[in-house]
Amino acid sequence: MKDVRSLVRENVLRFTPYSAARDSYKGSFPIYMDSNENPLDTGFNRYPDPRQTALKKRVSEIKGVSVDQMFIGNGSDEAIDLTYRIFCEPKVDNSIFLSPSYGMYLDSALLNEVEPRVVQLGPDYSLPVEKLLAAADEHSKLMFICSPNNPTGNAFAKDDVLRLVNEFNGIVIVDEAYIDYSSKESMLNYLDTYPNLMVMQTLSKAWGMAGLRLGLAFGSKEMMTIFASVKYPYNISSASIESALKLLDRNISKEVAETVNERTRMAKALEGVNGVEKVFPSDANFILFRCKDACKLFERLMGEDVIVRDRCSVPGCADCLRVTVGLRSENDVFLEIVRKFYGTFGTVGKGENASKTADDRIATVTRYTKETRISATVDLDGKMPVSINTGLHFFDHMLDQIAHHSGVSLQVKALGDLEVDEHHTMEDVAITLGEALYKALGDKKGLERYGFSLPMDDCSAMVLLDLGGRIDFEWDVNFTREYVGDVPTEMFRHFFKSLSESLHCNLHIVAKGENNHHLAEAVFKAFARSLRQAVRRDVNSDEIPTSKGQL
Ligand code: PMP
Repeated sequence: MKDVRSLVRENVLRFTPYSAARDSYKGSFPIYMDSNENPLDTGFNRYPDPRQTALKKRVSEIKGVSVDQMFIGNGSDEAIDLTYRIFCEPKVDNSIFLSPSYGMYLDSALLNEVEPRVVQLGPDYSLPVEKLLAAADEHSKLMFICSPNNPTGNAFAKDDVLRLVNEFNGIVIVDEAYIDYSSKESMLNYLDTYPNLMVMQTLSKAWGMAGLRLGLAFGSKEMMTIFASVKYPYNISSASIESALKLLDRNISKEVAETVNERTRMAKALEGVNGVEKVFPSDANFILFRCKDACKLFERLMGEDVIVRDRCSVPGCADCLRVTVGLRSENDVFLEIVRKFYGTFGTVGKGENASKTADDRIATVTRYTKETRISATVDLDGKMPVSINTGLHFFDHMLDQIAHHSGVSLQVKALGDLEVDEHHTMEDVAITLGEALYKALGDKKGLERYGFSLPMDDCSAMVLLDLGGRIDFEWDVNFTREYVGDVPTEMFRHFFKSLSESLHCNLHIVAKGENNHHLAEAVFKAFARSLRQAVRRDVNSDEIPTSKGQL
């Protein structure tokens, strides 16, 4: 294996990086007069930390890699481009990568005038180790291996990748953008053993920060020092750093598990559709599948506002579409369109629910009318991530209160004719949500059935709920304002009335108070508390909670 510095371009080795005056400042009460900034505090008037010290420290804790073995780029795309600029002499050197794979390896090669040497993946998208090694000569500086691979979704065997790292005389970059969704081991564990190994990851995928543009590259300290010297001095904005520090403070394991569960469910569902010929195994948050009339299916999906990726023209992916795993409700919309397109009817495909246990109380209902398009998924046992978007901010806030205080996970997406007014959207969300809750209750075995609550702020709210199946609605709440936020107060009554009808329940709501915001919130929270109580169930009980023997 060659020494890493011997692979670096001459001009890069000679280059003296930009240094800022405040880099050498050690005090604690600075008056900054070095960078020609505006002294008035706008929140962003100062340049960001060019070394991203705080962010690197946090990433280091999460990934278990030291800060000096890390580069943070404006997306992984910046890191990919920098590898070319650091290692490849234009018009002389070459770079080896796979096809089909992520497109930026080729784009960056072309822009940097570096010869691309493209090696086709084996049948079933296996890693062609011998061919990759055979493609190399003394000018081969880079080899990109994307694992799990985009767009095929499969991850490669660790030993095959390590063989490439051992035998290739340049830098092997393992792009692990999708590693959080994979059961395979990350190559980060081998950084200290192989100085020519570089691992790329990103905060754009499982960490949910695609909009912040934060890509991570890991390598030897020596290699990362060169990256730091070549990058633009302030390549990461303060806004990105601040937001990322907040978002990195969460634990993503539940979100990732839900995506992986959904991936299994979607793959099984697709396998059960007649026109789908092959569903490729995936270690990522997307699925590649080959199907009849792929272009037409793509257009149909587009026509129904579901955007997937058409990969038909990519060599090795003829007749293939790539679909990203969405929320359960979104996945159901996608599956329904695919089934209808091929004339496969029925709501549940072969083995589709295999990733869910028989005990799961999850249901999705979609409702498309001329006025609204709504999808609602509920998990009565609260295992799914919550996601709410109706286009009405205060309504979203209230639905979020239901999820938070009831422990029932809600995923609600609504696109309504808000240009007319809020009525149709709120009414149809209520109907759809009520139906989803009703469906999720299933056979009602072991169900608590009743809910009562009476929380207090400066307001009091009492919500009585009976999930027995009969419908009755009482409402005694008086709002003194016409609107709270962007929601007309008359719609609160209508929302709960519509919900009680589609949920087939008795719902009595009495609330009093001065402040209209608090009053609305008290009603939603009290409803949530009642719901929490009423949907509780004794999993060991077969009893249906009625003396009539049937609900
Ligand atoms: N690598 C792979 C394999 C990708 O699929 C993508 C984006 N789709 C990236 C890197 C780029 O990620 P980023 O958003 O960090 O630029």
